[in-house]
Amino acid sequence: MSRIEEELATLVAPEMAGARTNSWPDPLGLSLGLLSVAVGQACVLAYHWAYLRFGNPTAVQKEGPQRYDFWEGVRTHLAQLEGFVLLGSYLTGTWMFRLMPASYYSLDGRVNPLHVAAQLLVMDALQTVAHYAEHKLSPEIYKSSHKPHHRFLNPRLFDAFNGSIADTVCMILLPLYVTANVVHCNVWSYMAFGTIYSSWLTLIHAEYSHPWDPLFRRIGFGTAGDHHVHHKVFIKNYGHLFMYWDKLMGTYKSPLDVDKFCKDI
Ligand SMILES: [Zn+2]
Ligand SMILES: [Zn+2]
Repeated sequence: MSRIEEELATLVAPEMAGARTNSWPDPLGLSLGLLSVAVGQACVLAYHWAYLRFGNPTAVQKEGPQRYDFWEGVRTHLAQLEGFVLLGSYLTGTWMFRLMPASYYSLDGRVNPLHVAAQLLVMDALQTVAHYAEHKLSPEIYKSSHKPHHRFLNPRLFDAFNGSIADTVCMILLPLYVTANVVHCNVWSYMAFGTIYSSWLTLIHAEYSHPWDPLFRRIGFGTAGDHHVHHKVFIKNYGHLFMYWDKLMGTYKSPLDVDKFCKDI
């Protein structure tokens, strides 16, 4: 409906205008977004299975990876209430109650790589600050939010979303909402961002280094080794997707400088 048609409709039947704006938004974009994240996760799990079975993965830590049954890992990963259920509820709630900026409801255009990069960078910077605050504000806050995720000193890929509800709210949902309001993009870029973000966050928890990790380390992108440093020593590498913020804050530690880690990662 064009603007002129809308105004005419309002003149003819004023109650129609209110009915239109109070109606639920089209859930198509939301459904495609949730599907895209699910497909991304399925690809990560398929890659993980194939790399463990047919690849020659190098464990990040010298003590070797945790030993576990793959399908138990899949079940544990998919059963994370604080991860997928909370995130799914956030995505559905913010969409259906029109809490997202107007541009997010647009199906016009295509994926804009600059918007996706901006979202990833802003999100990770905010997540780094929230993560640092959870560690440093007070022992009580740390204990009730982030400590459950730190029981994994030598994490496996399936531990990525294993934490607590408070941790997910502080470190993922709040930064996500601020990011949406800082970077105004269309639904296609939002989908691409969400899929890359959730897949990358999962991959950095892998018990082995990925084939692309040496390149990623060179350009400051987060690797499994970088995140294992955080799980092992606690006070380094608060960033997840990028190591730029830690380099700025002076909290970056290369996995190659940790004695207990393998050197060929
Ligand atoms: Zn972690
Ligand atoms: Zn931490």
